[in-house]
Amino acid sequence: MIMRSWAEIDLRRIRENYELYKAALAPGQKVMAVVKADAYGHGHAEISRLLEDAGVDFFAVSNITEALELRQAGIKGNILILGYTPANCAEMLVQNDITQAVLSPEYAEALAAQGQKVKVHFALDTGMNRIGLDGDKPAETARLIRAYADKLAVEGLFTHLCAADTPAQDAFTEAQIAKFTAVADAVRDLSLPYIHYMNSAAGIAHNNGKTVYARLGILLYGLKPADDFAAPAVLPALSWKTVISMVKDVLPGEKIGYGLTYEATRPMRVATLPTGYADGYRRALSNKGVVYIAGQPAPIVGRICMDQMMVDVTDIPEAVPGAEVSLLCDEYTADRMAADIDTIGYEIICGISKRVEREYK
Ligand SMILES: *Cc1c(COP(=O)(O)O)cnc(C)c1O
Repeated sequence: MIMRSWAEIDLRRIRENYELYKAALAPGQKVMAVVKADAYGHGHAEISRLLEDAGVDFFAVSNITEALELRQAGIKGNILILGYTPANCAEMLVQNDITQAVLSPEYAEALAAQGQKVKVHFALDTGMNRIGLDGDKPAETARLIRAYADKLAVEGLFTHLCAADTPAQDAFTEAQIAKFTAVADAVRDLSLPYIHYMNSAAGIAHNNGKTVYARLGILLYGLKPADDFAAPAVLPALSWKTVISMVKDVLPGEKIGYGLTYEATRPMRVATLPTGYADGYRRALSNKGVVYIAGQPAPIVGRICMDQMMVDVTDIPEAVPGAEVSLLCDEYTADRMAADIDTIGYEIICGISKRVEREYK
């Protein structure tokens, strides 16, 4: 591995997070592993293989390219595409035994018109207003689902809860679950094998015990759905590292980086790191974030560049050229970084670019 900017993925932590989450479910309940966006940046082939070995039999991705890559990686379990696939990919879906979400009545029609018995799960919109059939009209929606029972291989029904991680919205979430349950009851005669509504947060905070699968995403990777969410004690599986490429002395009054946004007010030692926003290190962290060197925090000084950044190492004697630097670690997690720039940990880990090599241990 070339030690320039790299991510270390601790597979043992993925496994432990999975076991912790599973232990929090009811007996008989199972995990559908959400490995979309390259397993939230962790590498979907490696993560899915590990989970398949651990007993996971259902994987969720966002698109057909991701699904085909999992098949090429040897994943045998069910794969559900949660998002849009062009209807004319129907044959490809069938040939690769991939299950497609039905996004709308129009989409159901377009898919059925391909003359392929595609395996599908109908999405139900229970209040998020993103995708799905109308959750406010259970009878009509049930009729629509039933109308496709012989044109498509209808195997499932699901919804997505958009505030399951927010206790202040519990009434809304419970109303979503009630709408979902009403439709599930209305198509009970179809004996659909896969009825699911829980994401990571709902599996903990809104688990009514009536469905089998929880779609586990963020907690698998060891981050929280929301800052104050009371989650099992999962740990981040990804740490991001770089090295010091040079160290220099900077005098009071000198400026650092593009736009001259930082001015030294005392004699400083400044280290340059070969990681920048093209690696997915967010430019919003300019003059805000910190990195860790030899266990000590080094604040970012000046703007993050495309491929480089500068940090204050005045008080860190171990900071010499070639020294290892932690960009994401247990001291400074993706959730903590996200809080510093008003986003969510999800966006941080998904945003680490392909230029950053992944190493598994
Ligand atoms: C991404 C996603 C999930 C996983 O959400 P987490 O909050 O990461 O657990 C579950 N269901 C759907 C439909 C999703 O899009």
